[in-house]
Amino acid sequence: MDKVRRNDRAVWLQGPSAVCSHLPKAVPDPWRLVLLGAPGVGKGTQAALLDKELHVCHLSTGDVFRAAKNHRECELSPAMKSALEFMRRGELVPDSFVLAMVGERSACLRCGGGFILDGFPRTLEQAEALAEFLKSERLALTAVINYELPVEQIVARLGGRLTCEKCKAVFNLTERRPKIAGLCDICHGKLLQREDDRPESIRVRLEAYDRSTLPLIQFYKRTGQLLTIAATGAPQEICSKTLTALTAWRSRHVPVA
Ligand code: AMP
Repeated sequence: MDKVRRNDRAVWLQGPSAVCSHLPKAVPDPWRLVLLGAPGVGKGTQAALLDKELHVCHLSTGDVFRAAKNHRECELSPAMKSALEFMRRGELVPDSFVLAMVGERSACLRCGGGFILDGFPRTLEQAEALAEFLKSERLALTAVINYELPVEQIVARLGGRLTCEKCKAVFNLTERRPKIAGLCDICHGKLLQREDDRPESIRVRLEAYDRSTLPLIQFYKRTGQLLTIAATGAPQEICSKTLTALTAWRSRHVPVA
């Protein structure tokens, strides 16, 4: 059976000098989604599952930073080096840098195949900048999905999360154990704990989320774009729930550019 070719996100991950070798197919009414939710609710996992179902590009700002971390020190700009320091401490990277970085990648937001933004916007300033950009381009978000999960479950998920160093597949010591301890089921790469999933960083990240991201929920409630989904259950169940909710949502809401 033919494997479905995945969008390679080259422009998003490497910047505007890169060329995507495989773009999502342009469609008449593409999905343009934002995923919100505290670290650990499973936004990244859902984004990857939704990307497969909806054939849109998964645009994660955290992935851009993680891709930069794999570059040699001398290849990083001073601004990126300082951004990675914020990330290591579990703090948010300052808005000015994040907005400049997303601005350089604005072609991904104009992409005719649509997008799923994961991890951006994360502050009110970023949400306002995104709204302004989309308005100027006469583009509209289909919906802003807000994944909700009780705090105790978030801490348990994050503390047990392991990511494959090669293919980036995510495992969890409580919900999705690897078949062989420490090794990825898919490519047998080594499973590592993300630096910012250590207990001291988890606490800082949840505090940063409360401070900076909760106002976003109010913002998108006011704009009538917020669709809240309980992030309980297995990843595939949450994804099915999301797809059902999105289909019903789209039949009721006309996006306003
Ligand atoms: P994530 O993978 O989305 O959890 O992001 C990992 C880390 O990257 C965060 O803890 C922040 O340090 C940084 N980061 C990612 N996206 C943003 C953003 N939109 N604004 C500020 N910092 C960000």
